Amino acid sequence: MAKKQFKAESKRLLDLMIHSIYTHQEIFLREIISNASDAMDKLAYTALTDDKVSVNREELKITLTRNESDGVLTVSDRGIGMTKEELEENLGTICKSGSLGFKQNMEQTEDIDIIGQFGVGFYAAFMVSDNVTVISKKYGEDTAWKWTSNGGDGYTVTEAQRAYPGTDIIMTLKKDTEDEQYSRFLKEWELRSLVKKYSDYIRYPICMQVQKSRRKEGSSDEHPEYESYTEMETLNSMVPIWQRNKKDVTAEEYNTFYREKFMDYSEPARVISFSAEGNVSFKALLYIPSKAPFDYYSKDYKRGLQLYSSGVMIMDACEDLLPEHFSFVRGVVDSQDLSLNISRELLQHDRQLKIIARGIEKKIKAELTAMLENDREKYCDFFAAFGRQLKYGAVAQYGAHKDATQDLLLFYSNREQKLITLKEYIDSMAEGQEKIYYLAGESVDRLSKMPQVRTLKDRGYDVLLLTDEVDEFVPQTLMTYSEKSFCNAATEDLGLQTEEEKEKLKEQTEKKQSLLTFVKDSLGDDVTQVRLVTNATSAPVCLVPASGMSFEMEKYMKRMNPEFNMPAMRILELNPEHPAVQALEVAVATDAQKAKDYVTLLYNQALLLADLPISDPAAYTELVCKFMK
Ligand code: ADP
Ligand code: MG
Repeated sequence: MAKKQFKAESKRLLDLMIHSIYTHQEIFLREIISNASDAMDKLAYTALTDDKVSVNREELKITLTRNESDGVLTVSDRGIGMTKEELEENLGTICKSGSLGFKQNMEQTEDIDIIGQFGVGFYAAFMVSDNVTVISKKYGEDTAWKWTSNGGDGYTVTEAQRAYPGTDIIMTLKKDTEDEQYSRFLKEWELRSLVKKYSDYIRYPICMQVQKSRRKEGSSDEHPEYESYTEMETLNSMVPIWQRNKKDVTAEEYNTFYREKFMDYSEPARVISFSAEGNVSFKALLYIPSKAPFDYYSKDYKRGLQLYSSGVMIMDACEDLLPEHFSFVRGVVDSQDLSLNISRELLQHDRQLKIIARGIEKKIKAELTAMLENDREKYCDFFAAFGRQLKYGAVAQYGAHKDATQDLLLFYSNREQKLITLKEYIDSMAEGQEKIYYLAGESVDRLSKMPQVRTLKDRGYDVLLLTDEVDEFVPQTLMTYSEKSFCNAATEDLGLQTEEEKEKLKEQTEKKQSLLTFVKDSLGDDVTQVRLVTNATSAPVCLVPASGMSFEMEKYMKRMNPEFNMPAMRILELNPEHPAVQALEVAVATDAQKAKDYVTLLYNQALLLADLPISDPAAYTELVCKFMK
């Protein structure tokens, strides 16, 4: 019988797995057991939706069989089984459901613990086996099939016998070496502890014949005699962790469940376990991760909670249970009230799901708020990982979800030199301050040196320094917070001038008209307007955008789309108190060429201060040198 080859990438992975030394080889059992459990889930689910299929739940179990003399370990299930085609398709191709990220990641770092991170599943069996044989009979079919492979060079499929639908995974373990005792995977205690460690929450019994000892019947109390016997025992506790009483579950158990279920090495930042009664009753076990998965901010990331109904997994990632702004939450929801006889598509629109989703959103918000209030340091770590998602949430759909998100946002406070909430900003506003001031730009360091910051600081006003790309959209979308409006200190009137000051500015402008006209004429279309500073500043000049778009927004748009061709219009402001501007005024009256040079110098300085490129750096440098002679 001709051997078929594994698909190319499968072969590479096999090599990688077999020839690298894993400290976690034992996880092969977890993978094989979880596949068996999945197969029974599928059968149970099919039975719920298809009248022709019926299942006796008693029969749904996983059996481990040890054959120590032959060195063979068998894992059998009464699941849905596989057809010949499915055997080839599922076991001949790597990571059928495995993540795409896996392959990408493998290219970069071959020594990474692939299995732990991605759960490559079935192939893990080859880490400990010389040969793996799979005998499977699909539910509803008459023929069983045998798939067999030694991992290295392909596999064969032949017809076989099997009494019931289901699958046997028959592993001929490798011979012991100095480094690895493969034979330990045939020891009762070892298997027992591996099941406990990795597969305790599998909802089907995992059974094994175990050695027991009892007192011989008829032996006397003085001279008790014992005999050993074997008995089928269920090794796992089965009851899902979320169904257990909260006070009986340790933090460690919650964390272990999280790490294994969601393939995360780090402890979750927060565990939320709650149940709701009412129109729809449900239990939920939710986790707020402490680190963002590598693909979190990419399209590959799948949001959603795992949905169970009466112990049957219905959906792996039910999106409708989790709003986009909380998409980082992982977890499980279990409700016996969901109508199971409807198809998955219909289920998504189920009114009951909406009720559950609302409960979950509320709960997550409450938990995050509690973390914000009681454990600020942890919250800041959380925010570093997922804050951007919350900000996206605040601006999405024109702020439709701002109620759920705005109180959870943190921005950098110039006064406090740390992240604060909008509420904290409002609570510490100075006497008479009416607006929430913010500046958006590349770095806190740069922003804090902007002249507007100084102006506001002199008044005792704080400024939020926004440095994330999405940041500037937040005030623009929210517009107000707690009835205070946002003010972009770079583009908008700071609203600090009194009527008197405004009057004075008008007078001054009239007096300096010839200066302003000269500067505007010299600069031509580079600026739309030249005027005297409207806000006190210590710099001689200041460039402000004329339209609603700030320079930062302009830069952002350019980065998003290099074709972007609607730059913010520039207004040049002159500070008449500054000696440099006064020198310019003198030059305008006496030496037109010198005055032109001064204008060029000052305009370029304004560009530099605004962190905008100057059009001819060489000419600018020359000009500076000219005046140093
Ligand atoms: P995953 O479980 O992530 O899909 P695996 O490599 O563990 O990846 O398994 C590949 C596929 O092989 C499964 O998706 C399933 O279709 C099939 N499979 C594996 N073991 C069994 C089994 N015991 N019964 C039925 N199908 C199985
Ligand atoms: Mg699997």
